[in-house]
Amino acid sequence: MNLILLGAPGAGKGTRAALIAAEYQIPHISTGDIFRQNIKEGTSVGLKAKAYMDQGKLVPDEVVIELVQSRLIKEDCKNGYLLDGFPRTLPQAEALDKITHIDVVIDVVADADLLAKRISGRRVCANAACGASYHVETYGGSVCGKCGGSVVQRDDDREEVFLARLAVYDAQTAPLVNYYAAKGILKAVDGLKNPPEAVRVLRAFEESKM
Ligand code: ADP
Ligand code: ZN
Repeated sequence: MNLILLGAPGAGKGTRAALIAAEYQIPHISTGDIFRQNIKEGTSVGLKAKAYMDQGKLVPDEVVIELVQSRLIKEDCKNGYLLDGFPRTLPQAEALDKITHIDVVIDVVADADLLAKRISGRRVCANAACGASYHVETYGGSVCGKCGGSVVQRDDDREEVFLARLAVYDAQTAPLVNYYAAKGILKAVDGLKNPPEAVRVLRAFEESKM
């Protein structure tokens, strides 16, 4: 299955992405993770993306579309994939429709107050290969329990940047909810609770197709 996870920053896409990718044995493709990796490695894509990301702005469509296009032709995508954080604009969604067929879009829904609270307390493992995520209220340490890496705050999780990201989401990404609803492939899940519900929703969708 070819899947998209939609949702505001901090809505809980990452948690659900990990569950879905494991359940379906498909690659979890997070454009944010790919950019962060490129920044770390100092590639030209990383250099292009960094200035936008540091301000909570979107990386230009053509840069992201090219990146995703070259990722989806890789061998590991042939049985399906999960896109997390892409598309984020209408032109990206339209470009994606030309590249591939999307089966289901999961919209992770959460209200803005909750998002602010989640993101301001969010800490992540600095080891890109691990990517574990924590919240200061449940884990205040600095060592990752999964890999031993260091637990840090993402630069763009600082409040002023986060608020910019939320505004960008409302203006540019939220319209995609209607775009995919109109195609009849949108399934909403509650970002507040019950991450495994996303997997159940997908299984139910598959059964409805049989
Ligand atoms: P979150 O979903 O928590 O906002 P991501 O890790 O998905 O964060 O993205 C981090 C940043 O990477 C975004 O704020 C943006 O600058 C850039 N980015 C990621 N995906 C895209 C995309 N599809 N289009 C434009 N910019 C993107
Ligand atoms: Zn880790």
